[in-house]
Amino acid sequence: MRAVTISCGVPDSLLLNEDWPEPAPEEGAILVEALAVGICGTDQEIIQGHYGEAPPGQDRLVIGHESLGRVLDDPTGTLQVGDLVAGVVRHPDPLPCPSCAVDEWDMCRNGRYTEHGIKGLPGFARDRWRVQPKFAVGLDPVLAPVGMLLEPTSVVAKAWDHIERIGARTEWKPQTVLVTGAGPIGLLAALLATQRGLNVHVLDRSTTGAKPDLVRALGATYHTVPVNELDFEPDVVVECTGAPTVVLDAMCKVGPTGIVCLTGVSSGGRTIDFDAGALNRSLVLENNVVFGSVNANRRHWDQAADALARAEQSWLNRLITRRVPMSDFTMAYQHTGDDIKVVLDFTS
Ligand code: BGC
Repeated sequence: MRAVTISCGVPDSLLLNEDWPEPAPEEGAILVEALAVGICGTDQEIIQGHYGEAPPGQDRLVIGHESLGRVLDDPTGTLQVGDLVAGVVRHPDPLPCPSCAVDEWDMCRNGRYTEHGIKGLPGFARDRWRVQPKFAVGLDPVLAPVGMLLEPTSVVAKAWDHIERIGARTEWKPQTVLVTGAGPIGLLAALLATQRGLNVHVLDRSTTGAKPDLVRALGATYHTVPVNELDFEPDVVVECTGAPTVVLDAMCKVGPTGIVCLTGVSSGGRTIDFDAGALNRSLVLENNVVFGSVNANRRHWDQAADALARAEQSWLNRLITRRVPMSDFTMAYQHTGDDIKVVLDFTS
């Protein structure tokens, strides 16, 4: 069968293997036919050789962690043949740490977790894959064209879950949220914010392409000015750029009792001049919280599946700016300026 693979740590080693072995039964009882995978910045980093780890004893890693497939066989009866399914990315560490022991693998404390298509487990960019029932998330049939958005949605469902848990430290009635970055994570974070009835603002540098309209279609406000020029103080910031100045400006801009959730991964290595004392002063005097959020556990995947099923399907479709057939697979991994989400289509 076909599989998209790389050699870990070797830049530009991306290949379409035509005779990759069928998934091993140990991978899970549920056999799935791939429909599509979504592609994100982590895939690009893996392809450039900066990130990624092949399964033990193997040279190449099958990439792809934003999955969508159809069940071919499920002897456990968890799902039915033909059901839409996505695979949870992260698996708990073998020890397990206190978080993994209670299935909060997204909060793994010892770093020995594994991730499909990223760290030590084969990814979903292959014709067929297997999954254990615990890691198989069924999707509403209406999500057939867009179900590969479930993984990035799980990431923002976790971010919102933790924002709300932190908010619960006190009497807290947030009204205004600022999302920085209108890529897939930012737009999905904005979607989940509108589903919570919040007054949503999205900031991005793009003035063209689909982003401004997608934001307005949510009933949210689109901004292209720098964060420090905004004329309001948000109760919540969901930071989705990882750009150092945006991150720091977001921490300074958030209002009293504010919460800043960082989801963007910066590349690091650049230093900027910054008044850390002034930031400390405003965080303390305003009771603000800044926290990082990565990955998602099963509860968040289920919340994400529900959020996507409730969303306007035509809006979700517009997030997918290119669907690339397998015959052109390398094109899927070439990012163009106006792309939001690019998807590799296994059915064509
Ligand atoms: C994925 C997460 C993963 C993270 C770090 C992200 O692209 O969405 O599931 O935990 O990369 O590997």
